[in-house]
Amino acid sequence: MTTRRNILKGAAAAGALGTFGAGYAGTVKKLAKGKWSGEAPDKRLTGFAPDPEFRIDPETGDVVLNPDQAMSYTMCIGCTTMCGVRVRVDKANNKVLRVAGNPYSPMSTDPFIAYETPVRDSFKALSQLGPDQGLANRSTACGRGNAVLQQVDNPRRVLKPLKRVGPRGSGKWETISFEQLVKEVVEGGDLFGEGKVAGLSEIRDLETPIVKGAPEFGPRANGLVLMNCVDDGRDNLVLRWLKQSFGSTNFTRHGSYCGGAYRSGSGALFGDFKKMPHAKPDFLNAEFIIFAGTAPGNAGNPFKRIGTLIAKARSDGNLKYVVVDPVLNNSQNGPSGDRSRWVPIRPGTDGAMAMAMIRWMFENDRINSDYLAQPSKAAAEAAGEANWTNATHLVIVDPDHPRLGHFLRGSDLGLEIAGDRYSDADPHMVASQSGAVPAGPSAAPLFFDGVAETSGGPVAVKTSLTLLREEAMAKTLEEYSADCGIPADTLVSLAREFTSHGRKAAVNSHGGMMNGSGFYNAYALMMLNTLIGNLNWKGGTMIAGGWFPDNNGPAYDLAKFPGAVKPKGLPIGRNVPYEKTSEFKAKKAAGKPYPADAPWYPNAPGLATEWISSMVNGYPYPVEALIFRNTNPVYGIPGISHLVEKMKDPKVIPLIISVDPFINESTAISDYVIPDSVMYETWGFTKPWGGVATKTTTARWPVIDPKMEKNAEGERIGLETFLIATAKRMGLPGFGDKAIPDADGNLHPLNRAEDWYLRGAANVATIGKPVPEASDDDLEVSGVSRIRADLEATLKPGEWRRAATIFAKGGRYENIEHSYKGDKATHAFGKPMLVYNEGLGTFRRATTGTCLPGTPAWREAEFADGSKVAEHYPKADWPVHVVSYKSPLQNSYSVGAKALLRIVASNPVQIGGELARAHGIKTGDRVRLTTPGGALESVAVVREGIAPDTVAIEHGFGHRAFGAEDIVIDDETWPADPRLAAGVLLNDLGIIDPTRAKPGVWVDPVSGTAVRQGLPARLERVA
Ligand code: SF4
Repeated sequence: MTTRRNILKGAAAAGALGTFGAGYAGTVKKLAKGKWSGEAPDKRLTGFAPDPEFRIDPETGDVVLNPDQAMSYTMCIGCTTMCGVRVRVDKANNKVLRVAGNPYSPMSTDPFIAYETPVRDSFKALSQLGPDQGLANRSTACGRGNAVLQQVDNPRRVLKPLKRVGPRGSGKWETISFEQLVKEVVEGGDLFGEGKVAGLSEIRDLETPIVKGAPEFGPRANGLVLMNCVDDGRDNLVLRWLKQSFGSTNFTRHGSYCGGAYRSGSGALFGDFKKMPHAKPDFLNAEFIIFAGTAPGNAGNPFKRIGTLIAKARSDGNLKYVVVDPVLNNSQNGPSGDRSRWVPIRPGTDGAMAMAMIRWMFENDRINSDYLAQPSKAAAEAAGEANWTNATHLVIVDPDHPRLGHFLRGSDLGLEIAGDRYSDADPHMVASQSGAVPAGPSAAPLFFDGVAETSGGPVAVKTSLTLLREEAMAKTLEEYSADCGIPADTLVSLAREFTSHGRKAAVNSHGGMMNGSGFYNAYALMMLNTLIGNLNWKGGTMIAGGWFPDNNGPAYDLAKFPGAVKPKGLPIGRNVPYEKTSEFKAKKAAGKPYPADAPWYPNAPGLATEWISSMVNGYPYPVEALIFRNTNPVYGIPGISHLVEKMKDPKVIPLIISVDPFINESTAISDYVIPDSVMYETWGFTKPWGGVATKTTTARWPVIDPKMEKNAEGERIGLETFLIATAKRMGLPGFGDKAIPDADGNLHPLNRAEDWYLRGAANVATIGKPVPEASDDDLEVSGVSRIRADLEATLKPGEWRRAATIFAKGGRYENIEHSYKGDKATHAFGKPMLVYNEGLGTFRRATTGTCLPGTPAWREAEFADGSKVAEHYPKADWPVHVVSYKSPLQNSYSVGAKALLRIVASNPVQIGGELARAHGIKTGDRVRLTTPGGALESVAVVREGIAPDTVAIEHGFGHRAFGAEDIVIDDETWPADPRLAAGVLLNDLGIIDPTRAKPGVWVDPVSGTAVRQGLPARLERVA
């Protein structure tokens, strides 16, 4: 008979509880009244834990499965990290019991196991079987990931289609059938007794200009706009529906009110403002890292993986790191001694710190000249470099030259080129003893400030690095110090340490850049990496290793189909040059092309921040229908509350549809709600945000049966059923029986979600060397047998078992040994780093007609008209800065998980000791924070570890919907839960830009991203 002593539990339940208990011992004591406190002892070590999902016989190594539970590898979407996880499913009750990590996945395990490992053996890797197992491949979900699965069973989930009753935003709904919903939103009509509403079918007009006389804005079809949150692996289908089938160009995600400023600054360096590549430090091999405005393991992406690697590196490796942030959080680790350090900084001034460091590096010859001097790929390869830059390229600086700010090109000197002028075929020029010459296969001078002889005469030019040095020299160290609040000797010590490790040092950043100078701050911080030449080097920074994409592989082409539409016209978010518009041309003809009626952001991706302004102002064009897809800009954008009333007006936005499992603040102002799947009910394929050196595709599949109501065809209602049904009702191309081409050009159906995602899995499985076929045992032990019938029915005989492998192992993962070739990254970034960004250096602000620096620079926060924010809101009147920070446990959508609310229940405002004493504030006092944009009252917590004159508010609380207010559905009241209304929302303090003629929130002038870090404020104790 099996006894406890000779059976090793495979599940990490005991270990997980032990870890949890160590970190939250106090909380556990409070929680543990009852089941976990020992008051109700049970034979099980962990109180009331479910039976283990499998056991391993230590004698034979056999895995003995628990027949009542499935053990499935899939993906957590408790945050945007989207880790590969393993879940235990109670088969009888269709319920996920526990979540832990997927040992195949680099997002959850270090080192992750070889992909060839059979699924059954992957369980052994998690056990203590054998001397090297157990902790070696320990694979975890974070605290939030363990709790947020409760959202599946959240009683406030929307499970049936809803239609508003009464005014928009009144909180009154009626349930309707899916078929009625599809009919109404497609055909329109007098849907609410408020007059005719155009349906999607009418809006899909691909011929009539959306603005008469302004063809650059495209057709009326652009009047349908779709706001998404994050690509959770379902966006390819959404984009197919919106862009290629419906024909609208207007799609955006949430980045502009999340970490977009950092991404844009990085995009400037990497030369792509739309995709915004970014590199991460090689956490395990770096010797020194500066985290600016991000706290490793506390926030950022992928936050759980970073936390794990940092903990290892500071304990077992050689890593020292400094967190430069207005708020000290748990990223500084006491037991690590001087290996981790916190440096407080005045909010929004990271650019001053970075430019001070850059200045010191120039003055002390601590830049990597050998790397920076290589002007081309050929030169870099010849010099043994892993990348190159445009540091040596000459920029035209002659103020009267028509190409001011552009790079000097070969054609400017009259050289013959084999291609179009100023195309890639037209060489960049570098300085030489004999004048300007094409950038060639050898090093070039780093600094030049002089004249180049061109076919049009002499032209003043400088190298990119010269321009950067000039920007860095614009202020003294002491002036930079005064601006950022970091002592000058600390700035020097940071620069010295950063340049004392060769290439094994790095700077990392993220959400802290969401301030009024965010773009340039981020560009300057990332430039530090380039100045030491650390990209693509072990111990330096690395771009993501890439992935195995689902939408275009050897098996099926999900990206193209017969009859696909190419959307036309400028997007509503104005992230394109103003100079392309009829407005510019008309104003130019009238002699005054600037200012435009609102800001334009050609060096930015799609901007949700600006979409709302565009919609409520009808500028540059009006919208007719808005779809929110699992997103919440009404909660997430600072200052947006000033515009929400206009959004509620059906004359402004005639139709708003939400696809969401919950009624959040944005869903609440919708006309219709389509329920959607949650967490482990959904499909999708994702890649890591960064920091993983190997190719990684994480797969998500419904390991439990979704809860939503079924439609008349027997399919669960959700995003996919909505897209497919509306497309078919409108007769759009790309959906229906002949929609998906295979490699031979045969067309396959797209009538169900499975038609899409299973073919996606076939692509993931067959890219390059195909993955092995899943055995019957793989299917059984992973629970994929649950979808076996669909796999066999949908895919070809030679495909389905390979596709099944993708689900059985929770994705596809290149093995860890492919991370590096020698000291260089295997998947290196293959384009130059831009010390000077030509697009940035030549763009004119639409609101001022003026240009901005093309290199990193320290610039004080400005409003849209170029005036300094401090001029409008001087420090004497607004002496406090408000910033937000994130906890590792809560976010804006995890608060619905009650287990988390028991640990982090609210977000009292955090005030530094000195500031609190100055205002006579003690912990527990009620305080009022007022900014030019709003006011809030909250409870104070006085603590050390906050920069002077700064108040910090944790993000994620202060909801007004999402269960925080009563709603009525079919005359039945769903009462508010006060726990979900707890706390305050920093975004309520966000500011409307007072200089904009058409109302819009305060955003960074280049990236158009929201400002929530460093809001000017007043603090007072409420009597
Ligand atoms: S970090 Fe945590 S919450 Fe986020 S995806 Fe991973 S396990 Fe889930």
